[in-house]
Amino acid sequence: MINSHEQFMRYSRHLLMDDIGESGQQKLTEARVLVVGLGGLGCPVVLYLAAAGIGQLTLCDADIVELSNLQRQILYKETDCGELKVNCAKRELLALNPDLQISSYAAEVSAELLVNSYDVVVDCTDNLAPRQLINQHCCQQKTAFVSASALGWEGQLVAFDFAHNPSLCLNCIIDKNSPEPLLNCSNSGVVGPVLGAMGSLQATTVIRMLLGFFQQHGELQRYDGKSGRWLNLRAEAKPGCDVCS
Ligand SMILES: [Zn+2]
Repeated sequence: MINSHEQFMRYSRHLLMDDIGESGQQKLTEARVLVVGLGGLGCPVVLYLAAAGIGQLTLCDADIVELSNLQRQILYKETDCGELKVNCAKRELLALNPDLQISSYAAEVSAELLVNSYDVVVDCTDNLAPRQLINQHCCQQKTAFVSASALGWEGQLVAFDFAHNPSLCLNCIIDKNSPEPLLNCSNSGVVGPVLGAMGSLQATTVIRMLLGFFQQHGELQRYDGKSGRWLNLRAEAKPGCDVCS
């Protein structure tokens, strides 16, 4: 409930909007969101979700902050180097919004973590194995799932509302023959704000899902930061998909 002057002021820009208002803010405050990966995508995602008042955030990342992260991972400062990302993130997010409940896991994402109940799971990892594990669990449990990735100047995002659309999942659209799994930000580089754009889009998608406005199940959104162009592509469910069919 918006039950204090402080909360009324904090969320006033949501409360002013007809399609959010007090009931929408209440939905955000009660939401449980798992964010896997606190790198270039995860940093803007958790900053925006915490600022928006997402009541229960679970953070998962096994890594420590390194100097090479600071070009794009906007939660961390040079003095954080050597510290676990989940600890730095939790501290910064609670400083931003002390009302939140934040759980943190300094480990790789696991089936154990994914069986807990979430309204949305956000994939901000940079490789295929955790992404496939998350997709499989979300599809089975009918949990909403938002995934993004970025490399060089390019980013892409896809999201799934499994509760209302049981077919078509991330496994249907992953090209197993693509060279993408061999390339990543550590060996090929990435432009920081491209991750920021995709992370902001992930956070917007989470909010849209929680408020019941999401209608783009399985639609692929691609951004090319070099040309400044966006492209939306409709994906098709793969007949005989191991995960969703
Ligand atoms: Zn599928």
